[in-house]
Amino acid sequence: MRRYGTLGGAAMLALVCSGAGLPPYLLPGAEEPASHLASTVDANPPGALGARTVLGLPRHRQAQAVADATAAYAKRLERAEARRVVAAKRWGLRRAPLRAPAPPAHKPKLATEPGHLSGPGLPPVIVRAPTEDKVVFLTIDDGADKDPKLLDMLRELDVPYSSFVTDYVARDDYGYFRRAHRNGSGVHNHTVTHPELPRLSYRQQRAEICRQQDNLEREIGERPVLFRPPYGAYDRDTLRAAASCGVTAVPLWAQEAFPDRIEWGRADRKFHPGDIILTHFRGPGEWDGTMTDMVRRVLDTATEQGFALARLEDYL
Ligand SMILES: [Zn+2]
Repeated sequence: MRRYGTLGGAAMLALVCSGAGLPPYLLPGAEEPASHLASTVDANPPGALGARTVLGLPRHRQAQAVADATAAYAKRLERAEARRVVAAKRWGLRRAPLRAPAPPAHKPKLATEPGHLSGPGLPPVIVRAPTEDKVVFLTIDDGADKDPKLLDMLRELDVPYSSFVTDYVARDDYGYFRRAHRNGSGVHNHTVTHPELPRLSYRQQRAEICRQQDNLEREIGERPVLFRPPYGAYDRDTLRAAASCGVTAVPLWAQEAFPDRIEWGRADRKFHPGDIILTHFRGPGEWDGTMTDMVRRVLDTATEQGFALARLEDYL
C-alpha cells in the first residue's frame, strides 16, 4: 500500500543537505527507506543508494558519490514540493498544507478518553491520538456522496485521511473506496446499516459490526482495525462486539468540519495536537458547499494554526 509522505519537505531537505558529508549509515533514510517520502517522490533515499554504491571506493570518491546522490534526492523533493504548491493554488488554498513530521517509531499506548467506557479487553474509545506533534487527523464517514474531485484533491495535495464506511450507502460503488485505499487512505468500519447501536441486542450489534468487517475485507482487501459507531453512540456490548471481530480502537472525534464552518469541541476554537476531525461524504444536497470546499476549510484552518494533517493509522 502506498503511504503518505510524513516528514516536512523543508525539514527533510535540511536533513539531507546537512547529511552530505556523513558516512552512509548516518544519512537520513538509511533505516526507513520509503515511509518518509512524499508519495509523489519516486525516489530512493540517498542513504540506501550511498550504502550500496560507495563501499570499497576511496574515501574522497565515497564522499562525492554520497553528495551526488544527496543532491539528486534533494532536487526530487524540491520538485515534489513545487508540484504541491501548484496543486494548492489550483484547489484554492491560501497556502500549501504543512507536512507532518515523521510518525512515532513506536505506536503510543492508547488510553480511553475520560468520561468514556473502558474495561479489560475492550478497545479504547478516543477523540485524539496521544501525541505532542502539531498534527490533526481527517476522518470521513458514511460514504453516500462519492465526489471524485475529493480523491483528486487529497491525492494531489498528498494529504492523508481515513474513511469510516457504512455498507448500505457505500455498496453501490466500493470501487471509490478502493481508489482511496490505493492512494494511502485507511478504510474502516462504520456498520452495515448505520443504526443507533445501543438500541440493539448484543447479537444484533455484533452482526452490524462484524459483517461490515467481512464486507470491507472482501471489497477493500484489508480487514479494518478501527471502528466508529454511528452518531458516536455505543455501550459496553458495542465495544465487546467490536473487539470480538478484530477492532483495536474506537476513534470518535474532537471537531466536526463542514464546507462553511468547523464545529469546535473546545471553547478556545483551536486544534490541539492529535485531534481527530470528523466530516462526511456529503455534497451540496445536504451541505452549503462541496467536499472540496470542506477540505479547503480544514486545510486552511489547520495551516493557519500551524498544524499538519497526518495519517491516523500511523498513530493508533
Ligand atoms: Zn455516520
